[in-house]
Amino acid sequence: MTHNFNAGPSILPRQVFEQASQAIVNFNDTGLSILEIGHRTPLFQAVLDEAVTLVKELMKLDKAHEVLFLHGGATTQFFQVPMNLLNETETAAYLDCGVWGSKPIKEARQFGNVNVVASSKDKNYTYIPRDFAIPENSKYFHYTTNNTIEGTQMHFVPETNVPLVADMSSDILSREMDFNRFALIYAGAQKNIGAAGVNMVVVNPEILGTVTRQIPSMMDYRKHIENGSMLNTPPVFAIYVCMLTLRWLKEQGGVTAIEKINDQKAALLYDTLDSIPVFKPTVNKEDRSKMNVVFVMEDPQLEKEFLDLCKKEGMIGVKGHRSVGGFRVSLYNALPLSSVQVLTGVMKHFALKHA
Ligand SMILES: *Cc1c(COP(=O)(O)O)cnc(C)c1O
Repeated sequence: MTHNFNAGPSILPRQVFEQASQAIVNFNDTGLSILEIGHRTPLFQAVLDEAVTLVKELMKLDKAHEVLFLHGGATTQFFQVPMNLLNETETAAYLDCGVWGSKPIKEARQFGNVNVVASSKDKNYTYIPRDFAIPENSKYFHYTTNNTIEGTQMHFVPETNVPLVADMSSDILSREMDFNRFALIYAGAQKNIGAAGVNMVVVNPEILGTVTRQIPSMMDYRKHIENGSMLNTPPVFAIYVCMLTLRWLKEQGGVTAIEKINDQKAALLYDTLDSIPVFKPTVNKEDRSKMNVVFVMEDPQLEKEFLDLCKKEGMIGVKGHRSVGGFRVSLYNALPLSSVQVLTGVMKHFALKHA
C-alpha cells in the first residue's frame, strides 16, 4: 500500500486511473483508443463539453464566465495574462507570496508596469501579508491562492473593485469560494484536477479586448473562446483525465463535500505536528495551507531517519521542496483521510522513540 503525498503531478482517484487506462484500450466501446480519435469528432467534443459543464457546475459559475482548456501549464499563464490584459502604459498590482507568486511578476514586467503591493519574502514567504492596499487604478490584481512550495494559503479574498486574477493551481476545487468574484482564474491540472499537459482558464470575457498590442492567435483568449478551446489540437488525453476527475468530484458531493474531508485531513496533520515537539511547522498558523503542509525537525539530524521511515511505510513525496528543505506533505482532493491517519501514526511512533 502506498500513500502518495506528491506535490504535483500528484495523486488522482483510483477510479480515474482505471477508467483512463480502459479508454486507452477501448474508448466508450468504440473499439478505438482515446489516443487515436480526432479531436473534432463528436466523441471527443462530448468529453470537452462535459468537462466544461462540470467545471461550471462545480464552481457555480455565472453565465458571464467562459471555461477554457489550454496548453503550456500555469507557467504560460504567467505571461499570457499580462499579454492579454495589460498595456505598456498601464499598471497591474501583484502580491508576492512565494516562488509561484514571484515568477508571474517577472513575466508581467515584459508587458507593462507592475506594482508589487506586498511581499512576504522578508520572512522566507512564511506568512500572507494582510495590510496592503490595491490602488483603484490598477488594471487587475494578481495573486496565488495557495503557495504550493512554502505551504501558505490565502484564507480570504481581498476586498477590491479591481478585477481579480488568481493562480489557483494547487487549491482549485478544494474549497468553497465565490469564483464569480474573479475576472480570471487559471490552474495547471496536475495537482487537483487531472493529468499534466493542460491548464484550465476561467475568464470573464468583459476584461478582454482592451490591449493595443498584436497577440499571436495561440495566446489570445478571445480566439480560444471563439474556437471552444479547439484553435488547434487540444491535449485530448489530459482533458479526458480532467473530465473523469471532475466527474469523480461531483460523485463525492462536489466542492462542499470534499472541503469537509480536506479540513479533516489538514486538522489531523496540523494537530499532530503541534502536539509533537520533534516536528516544527514552518508557517504562520493563520496562513497554513490545507493542501501543502510544510514542516521541519527541531533537530535536523533526525530528518534522514524520518524520511527513511516514511519510505519503509510506503509513503512517498514527503521530502520538502529543495528551496525550503524539511518536509512537505500534499493533501490534494484525491488523497484519502486514511493516508493522513497512517502518516500521523508513524509520526507519533517516531516521536515516542525520540522523546
Ligand atoms: C505547480 C504550480 C505552477 C506551475 O505549473 P506548471 O503547470 O508546471 O507550469 C504554478 N503555480 C502554482 C501555484 C503551482 O502550484
